[in-house]
Amino acid sequence: MTNFHETVELTKKYIKQLKTDGVDRIIVSEKGKNMKKIKKTIAAGKLEKLAEEIKNCKKCPLHKSRRNAVPGEGSPKAKLMFIGEGPGFDEDRLGRPFVGRSGQLLDKIISVMGMKREDVFIANIVKCHPMIDPSNPDERGNDRKPSPDEINGCISYVEKQIEIINPKIICVLGSVSATTLIGIAAPLGQLRGRFHDYKGIKVMPTFHPAALLRNPNWKKDAWEDMKKIIKEL
Ligand code: URA
Ligand code: SF4
Repeated sequence: MTNFHETVELTKKYIKQLKTDGVDRIIVSEKGKNMKKIKKTIAAGKLEKLAEEIKNCKKCPLHKSRRNAVPGEGSPKAKLMFIGEGPGFDEDRLGRPFVGRSGQLLDKIISVMGMKREDVFIANIVKCHPMIDPSNPDERGNDRKPSPDEINGCISYVEKQIEIINPKIICVLGSVSATTLIGIAAPLGQLRGRFHDYKGIKVMPTFHPAALLRNPNWKKDAWEDMKKIIKEL
């Protein structure tokens, strides 16, 4: 696969060649497949640039203990985004979101919804692993929720990702991402199960996969939430 800059250079070369061949206008249809492709390439480029910024970010103390920042991944034009809380041990190792036990369950949920991981975009509210003991990044289970300061420092990144991707639906996983994105400080039980609004985008809060692993009896309710998403997509 070529990267964004290569694509731009190739496109420029192609247009120059067309000019020397005597072509003096190109008609691009807004509805056309080409336009969709171009928009996707532009979004991919913007996400790539933002991911670079995140990898170099030192805005909050979480950068000191991270092995890797975890910007997020998936389709630049995804109709559905999943937003978790923040990277854990496995994600910090690999620099990829939801790749541990919670990630395996999220993969299963996506598959039961009839989609693939590459069809959606998966991100987190904070991009670096919040640790109870930052001097011990190699210990499993050294996880905590991000603090309000860390969230405030990092939130602009996920906001920019949402703006670039412009999904139809955002599924927020767990109370940290639900209350942060919706802006209502209520327990998850009161928020989940119905759509909320984020800048005109439908937001469905549901249980975090880690909570579902601890309480499998909540899976039934989570599935009800997913069914509402499928119906709207
Ligand atoms: N939990 C999260 O909230 N995000 C991840 O990426 C992994 C686990
Ligand atoms: Fe930057 Fe966010 Fe990482 Fe803090 S958590 S260092 S704000 S990317």
